[in-house]
Amino acid sequence: MTADTRATRAHATEVDTHFDAVVVGAGFAGLYMLHRLRGLGLSARVYEAGGGVGGTWYWNRYPGARCDIESMQYSFSFSEELDQEWNWSEKYAPQPEILAYANHVADRFDLRRDIRFDTRVTAAAFDEHTRRWRIETDRGDKVSSQFCIMAVGCLSAANRPPFEGLETFRGPVYHTGEWPHEGVDFTGLRVGVIGTGSSAIQSIPIIARQASALTVFQRTPNYSVPAWNEALTAEQRDAVKADYPALRAKARARPTGFYFPFNMKPALEATPQERQRQYEEAWQRGGLPFLGAYGDLLFDKAANDTIADFARRKIRDIVRDPATADLLCPDNVFGCKRLCVDTGYFETYNLPHVKLVDVSRTPIERFTPQGIVVNGVEHSLDAVVCATGFAAMTGSFERIRVTGRGGLTLAEKWRAGPRTYLGLATAGFPNLFIIAGPGSPSVLASMIQSIEQHVDWLADCIGHLRDIGAATIEPLGRYEDDWVAHLNEVAQVSLRSTCSSWYVGANIPGRPRVFMPYIGGFPVYVQKCNEVMTNGFEGFAIDGAKATNHAPRVRLTERWRVPLDIEVISPAAIAAKRVPVV
Ligand code: FAD
Ligand code: NAP
Repeated sequence: MTADTRATRAHATEVDTHFDAVVVGAGFAGLYMLHRLRGLGLSARVYEAGGGVGGTWYWNRYPGARCDIESMQYSFSFSEELDQEWNWSEKYAPQPEILAYANHVADRFDLRRDIRFDTRVTAAAFDEHTRRWRIETDRGDKVSSQFCIMAVGCLSAANRPPFEGLETFRGPVYHTGEWPHEGVDFTGLRVGVIGTGSSAIQSIPIIARQASALTVFQRTPNYSVPAWNEALTAEQRDAVKADYPALRAKARARPTGFYFPFNMKPALEATPQERQRQYEEAWQRGGLPFLGAYGDLLFDKAANDTIADFARRKIRDIVRDPATADLLCPDNVFGCKRLCVDTGYFETYNLPHVKLVDVSRTPIERFTPQGIVVNGVEHSLDAVVCATGFAAMTGSFERIRVTGRGGLTLAEKWRAGPRTYLGLATAGFPNLFIIAGPGSPSVLASMIQSIEQHVDWLADCIGHLRDIGAATIEPLGRYEDDWVAHLNEVAQVSLRSTCSSWYVGANIPGRPRVFMPYIGGFPVYVQKCNEVMTNGFEGFAIDGAKATNHAPRVRLTERWRVPLDIEVISPAAIAAKRVPVV
């Protein structure tokens, strides 16, 4: 029996059951939130649409799926024992191992008994009389809770473009984010992959090994840096574990929430020869830290051009057919879209049975029973993989009817883009919390760190509300407005806001175009959250407290007293708006 099936248990429908907190989602965010709520002595129910824990790593089982932040850092840091007992086998662990880790966490902290799997939350409404949330699921549950915590994930609502004729296609159509559990064998098949984002870039080299012919439909080329993934030796793991807390602390002080060598010097102050050497060294280290080659790469277009030119030269060095190499060379800002990390991606286009089809100017026209038509040409296919990404950041919220005060729905409130205070909560929706969603560093930092910081803040907040006997907490409109204005202002400073990425909702037609994550750097954000808390939850209205909220003896999870890493994120760097982000 696999860990997943073990997790899937039918449950009796719950009606009129009352909880202190309901958590939606059992990815890393939902799991840790449940653990902290239990620690506060609260009753909690977690609802999870999937059949097991792990979220992203439960759903994204496509070939080649793995993390792009080193596993020794892409993991929970809240338990020193957990850190010590778990052994990652590779620098970048593959999806099955990350899923096994999520299952291990669920078992180790005895979390499953409060999670209802295969259960999707369909509605959550705030009852202004009882000051409680009423939550409904697709299995008929109707429960109430004081707190409703959305741990629904930023990249969890698959984007399935409505291609004309899709239903007429004779073969199977897969989405990387909803991959069959039994796996897919492409041996001998003519396969089409739509998309060239991270999921495509990871899966294409492996699909190409099985398929008799592979056609990749590319709308926008992406930059990708080699992972140089390798097995971790016991010595390497032991070296980290010997002082794991120090590594975790260094990671928290970084704008990205993970640690890697970073060079603050501006690219334009180096000579062309120095830059070439620096980029080559960074390329040989590989992965996302490549962006740490210089300090100004995401702030100065001329500096960015130097790294973009280097990356394009690499593509041309690898890909033998000049026309294909041209098509694969992005012309947008380097690192503007999420940088991809690959193993043998560009090399795959040297294989005789792999072909690249440009759909940037002439989009996919339609599916036919036999394949896909582009620009009047039919490409014959037996199976199609949609590596078309997600309705990022807000997609999973759109699939729940969330109603706050006065009948206002979240969909209405966020029509022109998400509005939150610190990404943690949104005015008009008391006691509704969001984990690592829009308005927080979220996907711009190592996400497990983003999640842990939010969960700890929320646990401290909820603990405090209990301490003072308060009924509700809710952001004040003007503080939320200021935060949204600040978010937009900081986003403008970075070149990241300049391209059509999922960070701005541009991957899906019709979405409002706003930069959704907070780009000002992880520790800057953490300090802001700490300040808000220690100032008595400044910017929040707390209602119904029996004890005074003045000079409160607030709780603050100690490890979030995060210093700024002054080598990378000095006050001068902040003033010059050159805080690096990944
Ligand atoms: P998720 O893992 O997305 O979990 C959310 C859960 O909520 C899902 O299981 C979903 O089924 C459930 N849910 C949603 N709506 C409902 C509902 N209405 N009712 C019930 N359940 C619901 N980040 C990194 O920092 N480093 C990486 O290397 C990295 N690699 C990634 C690779 C892939 C393929 C993808 C897609 C993302 C990756 N990410 C990475 C981002 C990743 O999403 C986060 O790291 C992290 O796993 C998110 O955890 P989460 O718990 O917030 O959300
Ligand atoms: P993505 O980055 O959004 O890529 C989706 C791809 O599909 C893009 O190339 C997009 O083109 C294309 N596409 C979408 N709709 C299309 C259409 N109608 N016609 C043609 N092409 C279309 O999604 P993803 O690859 O799943 O990755 C999402 C995020 O998840 C990543 O950015 C990353 O944060 C995370 N992730 C991480 C890893 C990892 O390495 N650990 C792996 C996978 C995912 P456009 O670019 O033109 O929109």
